[in-house]
This record gives sequence, C-alpha cells and structure tokens, in this order.
Amino acid sequence: MSNLDAVLNDLIVANRILAKEEVVDAYGHVSIRHPDNPKRFFIARSLAPDLVERDDIVELGLDGEPVRAESRPLYLERFIHAAIFEARPDVHAVVHAHAEDILPFGVADATPLRPVIHSGSFIGAHVPVWDIAEKFGDTDLLVRNMDHGRDLAHCLADNNVALMRGHGFASAARSLIEVVRMSVYLPRNARALQRAIQLGGSIKYLSEGEIAARAGGYRPHAPETWRAWEYWATKAGCRHLVGEPHAHEPKPKR
Ligand SMILES: [Zn+2]
Repeated sequence: MSNLDAVLNDLIVANRILAKEEVVDAYGHVSIRHPDNPKRFFIARSLAPDLVERDDIVELGLDGEPVRAESRPLYLERFIHAAIFEARPDVHAVVHAHAEDILPFGVADATPLRPVIHSGSFIGAHVPVWDIAEKFGDTDLLVRNMDHGRDLAHCLADNNVALMRGHGFASAARSLIEVVRMSVYLPRNARALQRAIQLGGSIKYLSEGEIAARAGGYRPHAPETWRAWEYWATKAGCRHLVGEPHAHEPKPKR
C-alpha cells in the first residue's frame, strides 16, 4: 500500500468515525492535506460522511476548486478547508461539523466554551466565535467562497477550534487522528460544561498549565491514541481499513 493509499484510507476511516460518533450527520466534512503537495488537499465529494468510499474522494487546490475535471457536486463549504490550509501551513487536517451540543456556545456569550474535562483539553485554552454577519451582513450562514473562508481562518488564527455562530465549528490539527479526536471530544466537553452550568455556581475550567501539560504529553501515534482510533474505526465498521500506527503523518516534535 502506497503512502497515498494509506492517507486516503485514513480519510475514509475519519469520515466513518465522525459519523458514528455523531459529530457529523448528512452534513459536515473532513479533509487532509496532500502529503506530497501542501497546496492540495483531499475531501469527499458532496456526500454524507458515513457513505464515503475511495472513489468519492476528490483532490482540491487551496482555492477550493478541483484539480481535475469533476462533474459531481462538491461540498458548498469546501472553502472552510481551503482557507484554513492556506492560512495555516502547520495544519494537515480540518473538520467542519454542525454538532448540536456546541451550538449554544456560539450564540450565547455568557459562558465561553473552554476545556472543562481532561479529554477536552485539546480544543485549547481559547475557542473564538466567528460570526459571518460581522463582515458579510445577512447571508445563509454558509461558507460559500474564499472570502468567507478566509474571514473564518482569520478568526481561527492560531487556535485549534473556532465556533461558527448559529452554524457549527471548524477544527484544525497537525494530523488527521488529532483533528478527529478533538472533534469527537469537543461536543462532549460542551455537554459536560452545559450540565455544570445547570448545577449552578462558578465553573472550574482546566487551567492554562493543565492544558499545556496535556498537550505536551500528547503524541499522535502513541499506543493510547492509537487505541482510540482502532476502537472508533471498529465501532464504525471499518477496522479493515486501519493499518498499523504509521509513519506518514507528521512526526511528533518531541
Ligand atoms: Zn456548515
């Protein structure tokens, strides 16, 4: 299996996991940067993530357009991915989803969405909220072009996740396994926070030191990370597409 085969298999697995874990439904998408050409990325054609097969994956440029003739409809919001890959050379994988549990935190400003549980630490200390209306006025809220995408990427800045007001979220990471993990735990962190708010009193967020300690000890292909990937893939019915913990994703810095 070539490096590219393994990358595309991983992208299929990521699609199925995000669907099974109810991060995405008919809508939402995940992408991975081309391992050999940083100006391109892979994403499915317009299709529910749970249904994605190898032939459904298309290769796009950083303008969000296909690099080969493509007659099948593409995701309207593919510009989210294109603009984040353009703005963030460190990012190798992006997820966009409409997970319901995070939506209140994009429309109510009383309580910011921040990590409150250890597995939520990877969303980072600051989760900005992007409001498309601030620059573009009344729209259908969809990221339909590069102008929209670049404004979102600007709001995301160096953070791992941006909420999209009244719409969903975009998350970005240095590897596919990390962006999937973060996107699975983001709604769980939001649920825990919302329940804590209901209990009353003040909220104890993870401290910046705790978030840094978690991030510092994390390795994308450590056995404990791989354990989750294997588990989720098996649950999503695609264990057969999972290879060994591989070397084709960026090597951890430490
Ligand atoms: Zn959307």
